[in-house]
Amino acid sequence: MSGHVVALSGGVGGAKLAQGLDLALAADELTIIVNTGDDFRHLGLYISPDIDSVVYALSGRADAVRGWGRREETWTFMAALKELGGADWFRLGDGDLAMHVERSWRMAQGEPLSAVTARFCQALGITAQVLPMSDDAVRTRVLSSEGWLDFQDYFVARQCQPAVREVAFAGAAQAAAQPAALAALARTDLRAIVICPSNPFVSVEPILAVPGMHAAIEAARAPVVAVTPIIGGKAVKGPAAKMMAELGLPVSGAAIAQRYANLIDVFISDERDPLPAAVAGVRIQGAQTLMRSSDDRVALARAVLAAADAVRDA
Ligand code: GDP
Repeated sequence: MSGHVVALSGGVGGAKLAQGLDLALAADELTIIVNTGDDFRHLGLYISPDIDSVVYALSGRADAVRGWGRREETWTFMAALKELGGADWFRLGDGDLAMHVERSWRMAQGEPLSAVTARFCQALGITAQVLPMSDDAVRTRVLSSEGWLDFQDYFVARQCQPAVREVAFAGAAQAAAQPAALAALARTDLRAIVICPSNPFVSVEPILAVPGMHAAIEAARAPVVAVTPIIGGKAVKGPAAKMMAELGLPVSGAAIAQRYANLIDVFISDERDPLPAAVAGVRIQGAQTLMRSSDDRVALARAVLAAADAVRDA
């Protein structure tokens, strides 16, 4: 079956399935709407961690061992910065830095984030459409046991240690959804919408908080498939499981399926876990969702597409 696929993605977990979809689909069949709630300014530079993770994954530049940033990275800048007494809590590799410098000066000249992202994709040979959820600033903030924290203060500087009580998306209500994202969701040849196995609270929900995004997904003429980021009661990486517990939710794929229940048609749980109990209006099925290799990513992408096609054919 052919048709267009729209994926919603955060950084690391989302980027892996986005890469699988990219490899499984033809060149012009994929749009990825990426969370920008983690974006921030650091050392005068505009940093967009989730866009960068997706761009590195799709261009084959991601570091599989470290799990973030570019492969074959060097750290001369960081060492020199430290020598000068500069802020070293957020690690910027030399190659990675080029992306932030190039993006920052272009944005300072008035180029929107979406245009800079498209420029990078073209330069790095990415054929999928990679779209920031909005060109307006949306900033994820965490109400923690230590008060309100900006996302990177919580995530990197405090290493997710403070307990999370609430998550907010400052600026979301005033942000304009990326027009190309809304256009992709409205396509008549839409085959599937995929919610990647990203952190629901700080990667997927910021996208859904941008006015018009949720409604566009609901109105879209394609099945919506979400993949669990929780395997065996744990997050593969990052604070998703810890956050769930702190927010009073059971740490399970089932709780994620419940959270997305009003939006999705299919929930893909990990085959190692017992299949979650029925959720009204949602088909639940198991698959191998741990993506260690490129083959794993493509296999999961194919399983997701097959699940969407089965809903459509039913
Ligand atoms: P972040 O913005 O960099 O934190 O990226 P995401 O939100 O996209 O990814 C973090 C989530 O991805 C975590 O909740 C992980 O459990 C999940 N994740 C990472 N790798 C995998 C994987 O191979 N399989 C599945 N199912 N989930 C994964």
